[in-house]
Amino acid sequence: MMNLQVYRNPKTSKDLAEKLIPLLQEKQEQLGRKLRFMEVCGTHTVAISKSGIRDLLSPYVDLTSGPGCPVCVTDQSDIDQMIGYARNENVIITTFGDMMKVPGSSSTLYEQRALGADVRVVYSPSESIEIAKENPDKMVVFLGVGFETTTPSIAMSMQRAKAEGVKNFAVYSAHKITTVAVEALMGDDTVNLDGFLLPGNVSVIIGRQGWSFLENYNFPSVIGGFEPLDLLSSIYQLTLEMDKEKKSVINNYTRVVKEEGNLKAQQLVSEVFTPASMKWRGLGEIVESGLEVSSLYEMYNAKKRVSQVEPVVTREIKGCQCGEILKGKRIPFECKLFARACTPERPVGPCMVSSEGSCSIYYQYERGKIQI
Ligand code: SF4
Repeated sequence: MMNLQVYRNPKTSKDLAEKLIPLLQEKQEQLGRKLRFMEVCGTHTVAISKSGIRDLLSPYVDLTSGPGCPVCVTDQSDIDQMIGYARNENVIITTFGDMMKVPGSSSTLYEQRALGADVRVVYSPSESIEIAKENPDKMVVFLGVGFETTTPSIAMSMQRAKAEGVKNFAVYSAHKITTVAVEALMGDDTVNLDGFLLPGNVSVIIGRQGWSFLENYNFPSVIGGFEPLDLLSSIYQLTLEMDKEKKSVINNYTRVVKEEGNLKAQQLVSEVFTPASMKWRGLGEIVESGLEVSSLYEMYNAKKRVSQVEPVVTREIKGCQCGEILKGKRIPFECKLFARACTPERPVGPCMVSSEGSCSIYYQYERGKIQI
């Protein structure tokens, strides 16, 4: 069994930090500015804040979060569609809990449930199949929001529904492909970065190979884990990589990430889903950046099978800077609503809802740094 204590050992982390800080300092002096690395994963943002690594390294490097929270990147129009389905009395909505409080243009799933809609929080997509079996006169719609880490389990539930002949179950797919968003950021000249800390969890599925396109950009990129030692050593590797003429995608999480990833999961996802253009909050519509239900599984596609009971109207959330935060162009403290009008109890935007959203992370771990 893997001994995680090795990666949580304060002494080892302290020793590495003592090696890392002079290196960062030297690089900062060379460049005449702070370094800027983006972590493309909300779980990394949590770990960086919680461990105090952001504070420790802040004189030398800005660790900025990117489009790594699936709930946050879900476009406002998708949120409104999902809430619209909840208004259909023939539909039972099943969802992971973090979608409940996400503000749509005029309501939330939570509010719809209070008004009488049948919205149920599930812990795995396959629970929706049991609910469908118990409610044969209703259509059960599971809200598919997530990256490469969640799509295999949702694909598996659709496979199971098909095998068991469950017909009153469908998925609203708003699934996103992380690699495509990262490539979109590479093409945006206004996003100034020195390197990517790539998500270890997504990489378990897609492998180091899944990121190899970054080598065409010759851009420092390191796949990292989530323990303090993982984070420090990945930042160390990123800094070293900056000086190399030919940069490669480094797998610094070899204890769980393989070169080729999880082939079985990849195969499953490619059978049930097909790449499609999708809108991302902040990044706009990106070609083939999402996963739509494939034609083989069309009868499990909620968008094809369930109609809205009233027209869905989408409006942007006034004052919310989530879109800019997801591109790494702003930090939560720069939003005037942060910790004032917008708190985890009364979120104005999705970045304050999800535990992987930057605003909620900054609210929990960093808000003592500013005057509110
Ligand atoms: S603090 Fe609230 S309103 Fe501001 S960007 Fe974050 S989620 Fe949006």
